[in-house]
Amino acid sequence: MRYAAPLDSSEMTSMAQYDFDLFVIGAGSGGVRASRMAASYGARVGVAEDLYLGGTCVNVGCVPKKLFAYAAHFAEDFEDAEGYGWDLAKAGFTWSRLLDNKNAEITRLNGIYRNLLVSAGVTLVEGRARFVDSHTVAIADRTYTAERILIATGGWPHIPEFPGQEHVISSNDVFFLKDLPKRAVVVGGGYIAIEFASIFHGLGCDTSLLYRGELFLRGFDKEVREHMARTMEQKGLDLRFNADVSRVDRLENGCLQVTMLDGTRIETDLVLYATGRRPNLAGLGLQNTDVTLDDKGFVEVDKQYQTADPAIFAIGDVTPTVQLTPVALAEGMALARRLYQPADYRPVDYDDIATAVFCIPNIATLGLTEEQARERGHTLKVYESRFRAMRNTMAGRSEQSFMKLVVDKATDRVLGVHMIGPEAGEIIQGLAVAVKAGATKAVFDATLGIHPTAAEEFVTMRTPTRED
Ligand code: FAD
Ligand code: NDP
Repeated sequence: MRYAAPLDSSEMTSMAQYDFDLFVIGAGSGGVRASRMAASYGARVGVAEDLYLGGTCVNVGCVPKKLFAYAAHFAEDFEDAEGYGWDLAKAGFTWSRLLDNKNAEITRLNGIYRNLLVSAGVTLVEGRARFVDSHTVAIADRTYTAERILIATGGWPHIPEFPGQEHVISSNDVFFLKDLPKRAVVVGGGYIAIEFASIFHGLGCDTSLLYRGELFLRGFDKEVREHMARTMEQKGLDLRFNADVSRVDRLENGCLQVTMLDGTRIETDLVLYATGRRPNLAGLGLQNTDVTLDDKGFVEVDKQYQTADPAIFAIGDVTPTVQLTPVALAEGMALARRLYQPADYRPVDYDDIATAVFCIPNIATLGLTEEQARERGHTLKVYESRFRAMRNTMAGRSEQSFMKLVVDKATDRVLGVHMIGPEAGEIIQGLAVAVKAGATKAVFDATLGIHPTAAEEFVTMRTPTRED
């Protein structure tokens, strides 16, 4: 076993007194990765999981969300097929079948996660863990000691307080609805709100999206936000900006009524709140440790995921990091290496993280928005393309794809890549490698396209739309 710092003999003796070298709280994206990696380097590892193996991503996040997004997408696929010669009877949709199949798939994945942990030699303890002291956690009526403890407890949906809060659901509930509502209201303007507005709409619900600000997807490139709003409206979604909910009531007819601050009312069957997530620290017993929290309640860590308590580390959504599964995975891996295989340690590179919103069509983005690039003082060349994807032509669909490159004029480096269009997530992942490698616009220009694809547009945009 190799450790970050050499241990003297007294430390070696005390280490042997612990049940584990590392005890991880939370078997989600980050916790599973850290546990498996640490065990593979020879550490004696235990992991506690309270609810579901694989955490948020596998059970109530990325995976079931993507399965629902696939389901929603079929609606347009069936419509488009006609232009290509297919005659289809009116398509029917059975929510309970989607749910059952989704649940079976998640159960299969839970089993895979269990096998991954067990075959790596990690001891899995099922139950909710709480700190007794910096080296001890209690789960049910047992305690476990460890030289080091890792908090990887992730986040939990946050719903603000307002009258009628008890009538609304969060993303945790949306994956288990007994019935698909006929009408849905989604509140929020981030990833989850946009994705679920698309999913509900695609599955045939009459869907409204309420966002408190001027334009949703704050932090994304402004033109991406505008293009997506137009696209969603053209599809028939009811988007309402500057819309603040004041209350939600259950009416006598059993329906819900959402009332906004300006008095506007919407009657609906379901209200989904997607208003961000908070660190999941309830009942963790942090008062029995020296761990500190920041002003938003996230666990404070240094660049090496060390909390203010020398024996305790934290990674993933419970810390103020980027809330994405690949980030939690990378942090778990970096920490395991630093502690138990320091020769292989590499810090996580948080620059140019590619990300996708799995709405219909996808948004995918990488690096700086045009606004961020300007704020940082870059002079820019901006390349844009808006076009009807070839598939949409015979389908009779007017929807336009959007692509944008933000290029630093002085160095020719590509600073940002943004796309709205079918499979944007798949396309941007490849470009993320190029940008990570420092690609210039000249490298994009020298790359031959794959014809005919939408993605080739990224290497054929020759004339800047605007130049500083
Ligand atoms: P989690 O995966 O949340 O794992 C924490 C685990 O700790 C949980 O299993 C929890 O039960 C357990 N736990 C908590 N407290 C205790 C305790 N005291 N004792 C024992 N166990 C405990 N990211 C993407 O990259 N792509 C996506 O498409 C995507 N889609 C998402 C969709 C939704 C609806 C949501 C909510 C999130 C999505 N995310 C997505 C974000 C992603 O799921 C998270 O960033 C990621 O899961 C964080 O991993 P984590 O290890 O920090 O925490
Ligand atoms: P986000 O932080 O992305 O968005 C929260 C939204 O809710 C924002 O539009 C915010 O508005 C709004 N909001 C916050 N508080 C209130 C309030 N009190 N009243 C009304 N509106 C409010 O959170 P999500 O819940 O959508 O998702 C959490 C995180 O999970 C994401 O940030 C992302 O990191 C991750 N995720 C990733 C996905 C992916 O990779 N595809 C998919 C889903 C989640 P404002 O902008 O004005 O603050």
